[in-house]
Amino acid sequence: MPVCRVLVTSPVEKAYDYLIPEGMELGLGDYVTVPLGPRAVHGVVWDVGGEGEVALSKMKAVLQKHDLPPMDATQMKFIDWVASYNMERRGSVLKMALSVPQALEPSQPMTGYILGAGEYNPEKTKAITELMQDGLPRRLSEITSATGASASTIKTMVKHGVLQAVDIFAKAPCAHPNPNFAPKDLSREQEIAAEKIIARIDKGGFETFLLDGVTGSGKTEVYFEAIAKIIAENRGQVLILMPEIALSNSFIRRFAERFGVKPALWHSSLTPAQRRLTWRSIVTGQTKVVVGARSALFLPYADLKMIVVDEEHDPAFKQEEVTIYNARDMAVVRAHQGKIPIVLASATPSLETMQNVWEGKYTLLSLPDRFGGASKPEIKIIDLRIDKPTRQHFMSPVLIDEVQKTLDAKQQALLFLNRRGFAPLTLCRTCGHRMECPKCTAWLVEHKRGNQLQCHHCGFSMKTPVECVNCHDKDSLVACGPGVERIAEEVKEYFPEARTLILASDITDTHDKLIEALDRIKNGDVDIIIGTQIIAKGHHFPQITCVGIIDADLGLSGGDLRATERSYQLLHQVAGRAGREQLKGHVFLQTYNAEQRVMQMIAEDDRDGFLEAEADERQSAKMPPFSRLAALIITGKDEAQTKNVAIMIGRASPRAEGVQVLGPAPAQMYRIRGQFRQRILIRAEKNLNIQKFIAEWLGSLKIPSSVRVVIDIDPQNFL
Ligand code: ADP
Ligand code: ZN
Repeated sequence: MPVCRVLVTSPVEKAYDYLIPEGMELGLGDYVTVPLGPRAVHGVVWDVGGEGEVALSKMKAVLQKHDLPPMDATQMKFIDWVASYNMERRGSVLKMALSVPQALEPSQPMTGYILGAGEYNPEKTKAITELMQDGLPRRLSEITSATGASASTIKTMVKHGVLQAVDIFAKAPCAHPNPNFAPKDLSREQEIAAEKIIARIDKGGFETFLLDGVTGSGKTEVYFEAIAKIIAENRGQVLILMPEIALSNSFIRRFAERFGVKPALWHSSLTPAQRRLTWRSIVTGQTKVVVGARSALFLPYADLKMIVVDEEHDPAFKQEEVTIYNARDMAVVRAHQGKIPIVLASATPSLETMQNVWEGKYTLLSLPDRFGGASKPEIKIIDLRIDKPTRQHFMSPVLIDEVQKTLDAKQQALLFLNRRGFAPLTLCRTCGHRMECPKCTAWLVEHKRGNQLQCHHCGFSMKTPVECVNCHDKDSLVACGPGVERIAEEVKEYFPEARTLILASDITDTHDKLIEALDRIKNGDVDIIIGTQIIAKGHHFPQITCVGIIDADLGLSGGDLRATERSYQLLHQVAGRAGREQLKGHVFLQTYNAEQRVMQMIAEDDRDGFLEAEADERQSAKMPPFSRLAALIITGKDEAQTKNVAIMIGRASPRAEGVQVLGPAPAQMYRIRGQFRQRILIRAEKNLNIQKFIAEWLGSLKIPSSVRVVIDIDPQNFL
């Protein structure tokens, strides 16, 4: 009997041997179910023919072939590549592609109704027969809600043949986007940019574009134009990757206004039925455009022809759990392997991307101005050492004045602070005790809502105590530093009449609440918005003319490689919320580091100057993008054992030219959820194979099962 090798969706590296039963035709990429130990598991045929390593007598047979087009060879190659680059097992990466196993089975039809030839009580059934004249099959619930008829009336009509039951199948999402539904006249700059992408689509092949333009410059319309081209010529599928949080209703609405239908969506809050339908429609090629969060990159597209990564600089593209990968970087690889164009769009491109532009690897498309000539906001620095807030307050007199002026002009103000809750630290005035999480190296954050202290790392929470848990002194606990709730209290004090709204992930914690909050802002039902970084992404609020950044220094500490860059990006994005239409915007940065380069460059809006200076610094420190990094994170419940294993690993590190091993050292977050953490950082010259170095190093070590070693290639987070 012939043999094939199947990669299953379990954490395994190898594709296993299976017999192909008589009568089953199997080829590369076919979706199958196979036995693995006592279980039946899903997988994909990775190789066919040959001998197999296992004796034929011991080999088990494939149980079932699923009725789907086979996985594209590019996709298979991509899975192999992602696994090897990120040092993850291939089966685990395949699992990301096959994340909806139920979708392997054909979808079950639902019952719908159409008009039949029978007759029954024309008076009573008139509304229904009129509704059904158009011949479209409808589900029972659709008929009852449209006509107000009862379910039993409909059953009776079926019995008399007035209505007839038919099978209906859910329709593939975004199967027929219309490229000519409502095209926009592009500006000259937009046209030039779109033409360059379209030229590449025409010619075929891989090319990475950086679509660089301030928020509101019309980047979205440019890539829509390229998408329209692919749709018009029926060339294949398009994927738009976005940070989950930017996947907003307003974006979906805009897509629908341009193409006449909504895009297919792929994100964490789809229902199981939506997930199943979307997955199948992508695999069969019916769905043309997918807008999704990072995991959408791994879906097995039938025929992917272009990728867009919007907000390419966003740290959310890095997945830090389970399988660690950077979706932005992997997307570029996917495009390269598939020989298709990829568009990275951003107002604040990452240094890595800019470096690739400077080296001539990526093509730069610039949109210098805001669309329609809306002016850029004016940015001022408030030096908190000079313009001091009053005690236990966080808004400087200048900022208070500016907010007042904004209210007088009947416009909206936004106060930005990237910290949830009321206060990040609770301290005892008597004994100095700090309230810490019992399981993490982290302070507990006070939340007035719910009267709780919370850990933002593990979710631990407790009622805010009335006395110090250490010295038991009463009324001695004080809140230190601000969170958005505290700023909201301060705002109430200064502007008692103003209508305020807090926008933070724990408050607007459902999609609906967020939409409602955003609508209230748009409709002008709010005067002052106090928000965390959810406010920074993509939303368009024409009435906001004053933006106050409460603590511009917040992101700068922490010793993270990209702290300054991230800070620049976030502050720039927030500043971009001000004055997007006719109204001029003003931005105020409150800082204790007024002379810092980041502050100056933001104030002068000198982004390229900032990136160049940042590049110089990274180059002299031999840091990415001028070198490669990888991290080993060693964790365990037993503190001493974790440390000893880390030391053992550190000692075993091979010597190699151009590679440096730093550590082990206790992680900055030394404990998370009760697990102790040690870190080792590996830095290698750019042309070195850091994965091979690590594999040879770790391959020979015996690591006790109670300690875990996680490999993070190109780490973004250094905690
Ligand atoms: P970005 O993606 O760079 O933030 P958008 O594409 O969202 O910018 O454009 C900003 C605003 O300008 C949007 O409201 C958009 O509809 C509008 N706009 C952009 N280009 C055009 C155009 N060519 N014609 C009409 N409106 C446009
Ligand atoms: Zn905790």
